[in-house]
Formats: sequence, C-alpha cells, structure tokens
Amino acid sequence: MTFNELNIISPILSALDAEGYKNPTPIQEQAIPILLAGKDLLGCAQTGTGKTAAFAIPILQLLDAAHAERNHRHIKVLILTPTRELAIQINESFGAYGRNLKLKHTVIFGGVPQGAQVQALQKGIDILIATPGRLLDLMSQGYISLKDLSIFVLDEADRMLDMGFIHDVKKVVAKLPLKRQTLFFSATMPPEIQKLANTILVNPEKVEVTPASTTAETIDQAVYYVDKKDKRLLLNFVLRDPKIKMALVFTRTKHGADKVVKELHKVDITAEAIHGNKSQNARQRALSNFKDGRIRVLVATDIAARGIDVDSLTHVINYEIPEVPETYVHRIGRTGRAGAAGIAVSFCDDEERTDFRNILKLIGKQIPVIEGHPYPASGSGQLTINPPKNKQVVARPGAVPGAGNGNVRRRPTGSPRSFDKR
Ligand code: AMP
Repeated sequence: MTFNELNIISPILSALDAEGYKNPTPIQEQAIPILLAGKDLLGCAQTGTGKTAAFAIPILQLLDAAHAERNHRHIKVLILTPTRELAIQINESFGAYGRNLKLKHTVIFGGVPQGAQVQALQKGIDILIATPGRLLDLMSQGYISLKDLSIFVLDEADRMLDMGFIHDVKKVVAKLPLKRQTLFFSATMPPEIQKLANTILVNPEKVEVTPASTTAETIDQAVYYVDKKDKRLLLNFVLRDPKIKMALVFTRTKHGADKVVKELHKVDITAEAIHGNKSQNARQRALSNFKDGRIRVLVATDIAARGIDVDSLTHVINYEIPEVPETYVHRIGRTGRAGAAGIAVSFCDDEERTDFRNILKLIGKQIPVIEGHPYPASGSGQLTINPPKNKQVVARPGAVPGAGNGNVRRRPTGSPRSFDKR
C-alpha cells in the first residue's frame, strides 16, 4: 500500500516524501480512508504506531478542500492532548505534513506566559493543538471561539484520565458544536474511557492496531534483578556499552530523576533530567540536546516523557519499575517507533517484584532475565508469574525464560543479546 493509493493529494504526498515516509503504517492505512469519508473514529493505538500522521494527514486534506471555498480564518480543528511535549510534537507534525498547504496552525499549553500564544491566535488559525488547562483558560478570557469547529481530536484519552484532566476534557467537549467529526485515540480502553468515547462519538468506526496493552513486537525486552542500592552501579555498567548511543531512563519521581543525573555526571556520562519541576524552556532544551546528540542520556518521569518522540531512540531503561502496569507499555513505546527495532531493559528490585509481575500479566508474555551481571539481587526468592491462558511459568532470577515455549535459556554475558547486536 502507498500513500498515493490512499488518495492523498499531491502537496501532502510530496511533504511525506520529504519526511522519508515510504508507506503508510497500519493505523494510517486503516484510519485515513475513514477520516477522509468524514466519519467518527475510535482509534486504539499506542504511541509509535504513526497515529499522529494517521489523523494529521486526512485533517489537512479535508481542510485544504474546505479552505478553497473560504477566506475567513477561524478554528476549524481542535486537537486536545495531555502534555506540552506531545502538543508541541503534534504541532510540528502539522507543520511538516502541511508544509505545502496554506493552512495555519498553532499550539497552546500551560507553564509559559500566554502573550505569544494569544498573538498567534489573534492572527487567525485553522488548526489548534492544545492542552486542556490552557485551552479552558484562554477560552474563558475570550481569546478562543470554537463555534465554527468541524473536527475534534481527543488524543491519548487514557492518559488524560491518569493525569486527572478528564473533567477539563468534558468541559471542553461541552463547548463544541454538536455537528462535528470526532476522533478519539487511546492506547488502552479502561471502562471510564470507553464510557467517555460512547458519549462523544457518533457511530464511530473502530481501528485497533495493536491490542490494548501489548508491547510492540519489535522491542527487545529484558530485566535485571538487582538490589535497590546497586541500581546506580548497574546503570553505569549497562551504559558502559558504547553501542548505546542514546538512552531514555525512567524514574518514578522527579527527585529520583535528578539523583540519577547527578550520579551519571560523576562517571562522566552526559545526562539531563526532564520533569514537571523544570521550566518549559529547560525541558525543551534538554529534549533538543538529547535529540541532537549533545547528551547521551535523558532521565525522565512518566508524565514529562509522555510524547517524547525521538525517531532514533534505541534504548529505554526502566531504572524503576512503574506502579501502573500500562505505564510500562507507554514507556517502552518510546523506542521501536514505527516498526524500528528498540531495546527496553528494566531494573527490578525486591520491593518492585509485585509491580513487575503485574506488568508480565498485562503484556501476557515473558521478559528474559539477564544473569551473570556484576550486581545480582541478594534475595533468591522465586518470581512466579501467571501469564494468561492459565499457563504457570516460573522464572528464577538468573534464568532466561524461553520465548513462549517454557524452555529456559542461559545468557551468560551480563548483557541482553540484543545489546551485543548493536
Ligand atoms: P506517533 O505514533 O504518531 O508518535 O509516530 C511515531 C513515529 O513514526 C514518528 O516519529 C513519526 O515521524 C514516524 N512515522 C509516522 N508515520 C510514518 C510512516 N508512514 N513512515 C515512517 N515513519 C513514520
């Protein structure tokens, strides 16, 4: 399948060509025709599947056709997304795919002064990308009218719920014209999200690219069992591998992220932290330093990392195991994007074993255990995991479970096999 076969107009085709996109990803293949036909869409897709382009391309095309008939600029499309980073990246995507069109778009988010955003709005725009708080704020000040809106996109709906934005989302929805096209994206579909989808979509077509809560097949996963006090040494050890050109390291807390950065600096590894206590500018600067290769390691908390989109990211390291199992899926989805290969390793200490077990249950598969590393966990207790289909598998620290067939392979090197491949 080619973009041409999806009836994409030539100005967008040449923009996609400039981006180096050869073929549509599965979600693009499925979603683009539905959206060009003007239908509502319920998209169950994790990040890294190409979902931004799946909605941005048809929106640009629909708007370009409509724009030919009108001169007056007003907001016709609203994309609501949970984090500033994601909002900025979606805005960049609209800029990239729409570079040969005359449509105007802008992005608004909190944590920065509103002046520049208000100015951009006052010049007149067609497409607005926003986080919920700043949107409601500028709406209440009278800078934004959504009365002419024709397309509404709710992105990462499950994350909106996790971050406590669901009431803000409902407030925004209440202000939208009833006659509109609605696109609803979520990586997972907990009941509350399903309920919200039912209330805002009309006869939607459903597109599901990876079943909710599964990890991309292209991501090679592994776990190190380690004592909490040794995690910092283990991180230094893992990062000694020169093949790891860039790594995104996750911690549970902001304080934890800062601590990891400090420790890495001590061994001369370039690193910066990105989390909610940093100013928007500091976060953007850290992100571009990382993207441009000026720093090797970006240490992030889950909320701050949402939407980090670095095409060439090969390694994700879970320095701490997330409490919410779905977060694991989101985290490792930062690598292996759009079918590329990626590696995700997790450092699991004794206290985190229950959380790790819940992750295994959620993703329904084994994660190979790295043995022979210099900082093995002192506890020798067995970790029993119950994957679906009532199959009991016992993984001992120091054993590498076989892929699905119950065999136990040994991996003596201290590094995941895939680390050696790169
Ligand atoms: P997303 O799931 O929207 O966060 O996109 C994941 C990554 O895939 C982004 O870096 C996009 O630039 C990239 N991407 C999206 N569509 C394609 C495509 N058709 N071919 C190659 N890369 C793509």
